[in-house]
Amino acid sequence: MKYDLIVVGGGPGGLMAARTAAEDGLKVLLVERKKNITEVNRYCGQIFYTRKLSSSKAGLHGDGYIESVSVEVDFETNRFHFPGPGFSLNYNGPLVPYLNWVAISPSKYLVYRRKQTLWAFQFSKEAFLAELLALARKAGAEILPETIGVAAENNSDGVKVLMRGKSGEQTLEARTVIAADGVSSSIVDSLGLNKERQVLSSRGMKLICYHLEGVETDLPPFSWADICIPSVTRVMGGLLMGMLADDKTQLGSSSEEILQRFMSHPNFAPWFRHAQVVKKTGLSGGAKYGILSAIMEPVEGNVVIVGDAGAPIEAWIQGAVASAYMAVKAIEKELSGQKGYLEYIDWWQNAFYFCRQKDYFRNVFGIFALSNAWSCDEDVDYVYKLFQDREGSPFTLVSQNQELIKEGRPELYDRFVKGYEEIERVVSKIKPF
Ligand SMILES: Cc1cc2nc3c(=O)[nH]c(=O)nc-3n(C[C@H](O)[C@H](O)[C@H](O)COP(=O)(O)OP(=O)(O)OC[C@H]3O[C@@H](n4cnc5c(N)ncnc54)[C@H](O)[C@@H]3O)c2cc1C
Repeated sequence: MKYDLIVVGGGPGGLMAARTAAEDGLKVLLVERKKNITEVNRYCGQIFYTRKLSSSKAGLHGDGYIESVSVEVDFETNRFHFPGPGFSLNYNGPLVPYLNWVAISPSKYLVYRRKQTLWAFQFSKEAFLAELLALARKAGAEILPETIGVAAENNSDGVKVLMRGKSGEQTLEARTVIAADGVSSSIVDSLGLNKERQVLSSRGMKLICYHLEGVETDLPPFSWADICIPSVTRVMGGLLMGMLADDKTQLGSSSEEILQRFMSHPNFAPWFRHAQVVKKTGLSGGAKYGILSAIMEPVEGNVVIVGDAGAPIEAWIQGAVASAYMAVKAIEKELSGQKGYLEYIDWWQNAFYFCRQKDYFRNVFGIFALSNAWSCDEDVDYVYKLFQDREGSPFTLVSQNQELIKEGRPELYDRFVKGYEEIERVVSKIKPF
C-alpha cells in the first residue's frame, strides 16, 4: 500500500492533517478540488476567537470549538496556542484585534455584546493556509490539486478512495483516510453517515460577503457589528460587518439585495459614501444534503472525519485544525496497535458546542424564532434603546428583563413569549444524544 494516509480536502483541517502526519513520518497524499489551494472564495469571517464563547457573562455562545486557545503576539512571529490538544502554530500574516462587538438598531442604538475587551483577532485565512501548505510540502506530503475525492470504502486492508481529476477517475488505497472536505462532504455521504443526522434545514443557507474599500463608520474602533433592521432583513445577525486583515471592511448577509438596501438606508448610507466593492465571497451552505446535525461518532472503519465535514455548518478554523491534529494522533496510535479512535470520538464530543445537540439547536432556532417577534424597525429601536450601552446580547437582555418589556410594550412581550415557546417546541423534537 502506497500511502499511510490520504487526506481529502485542503482547507485548514486537511492541510493541518497533512502537515502533522507528514512531520510525524507518515506517507501522506492530500487531494483538493481547487487549483489554487490557498485561495479563499468561500465566505468566512476570518476571526480567530481568543475566548471560550459559551457561558460567558455576555450570554454569548460559540457554535463551534469550545476549548480555549490563546494568541501570542511577538515582534518576530505570532503564535496560536491550543492547550487542549497541546500544540502551537506560528502565524506570520496580519492580525488586528477586536475590542468591541456591537449590536446596532435602525436608529443606531448600540448594545455591546463585548465592550473594550480583547475577544478575538481578525486574521488572514489565506496567509494561514499558505503557511500550513508550505509546511506540509516541506515535510514531504504529496499534494494533488484539482482532484475531487468522490467516495471512500473501507476494506480489510485499509481504505479505497475513488477520485476524479483532470485525467479522469482513479482509485487509490491507503491504510487510513481523513475526510476534511468541508460541510457537504462527499466522503461522509459515501460512507452512509448522513443517514443518521437530523435535518436542520433542507434548503441550506445562502450567504454573500462584500469586501469594501473606503468605508467610514462612526462605530467604536476595532468593532465587529451585527445590525438588526427589520425593514431590511428581519433576522438578528442578518447583517454582519467587521474588519478584514488587509484594511478592508467585510459586510455580509443572505443576499446582495439586502446588502444594497442596507448601504442605501438613510441612517447608514453616509458610511458608504466613498465605498467600493473590491471582492465578493459567497457560499451555499448545505446546498447538497441540507444543513445536518453534527456527526457524533466521527470515525468509520479507518476513515476519520475532521472539521466542517462532521459539523452542522462550522467547526471554525481553530476547530478544524484542532480536530485534524487530534485525528492524526489517533491514527498514529491505531497504526501502532493502540486504541486511538475511541479517544478521538470522546475528545470530539466534548470539544464542540454543536455536539450538545439540544443547546446548539436552541441557539440556532432561537435567532429565527425571536427575529419573528420584530414587527417593525421601531420595535428594535425600543429594545436596544432600553439596553443602550449595556453589555450582553440583546436576546439575553430581553430574556433577563421580560417584566420591563411587558410593562413598556405588552404586545412585543407577547410576541417574544410566542418566540420562546416556538424554540422549545422545536427543541423538544431533537433526539437527545
Ligand atoms: C459565513 C461563515 C463565516 C465564518 N466565519 C468564521 C470565522 O470568522 N472564524 C472561523 O474560525 N471560522 C469561520 N467560519 C467557519 C470556517 O470557515 C470553517 O469552519 C472552516 O473553514 C472549516 O475548515 P475545514 O477544513 O473543515 O473545511 P473547509 O474550510 O470547508 O475546507 C474544505 C476543503 O475541501 C475542499 N473540498 C470539498 N469537497 C472536496 C472533495 N470532494 N474533494 C476534494 N476537495 C474537496 C474544498 O475546496 C476546501 O478547500 C465561517 C463559516 C461561515 C459559513
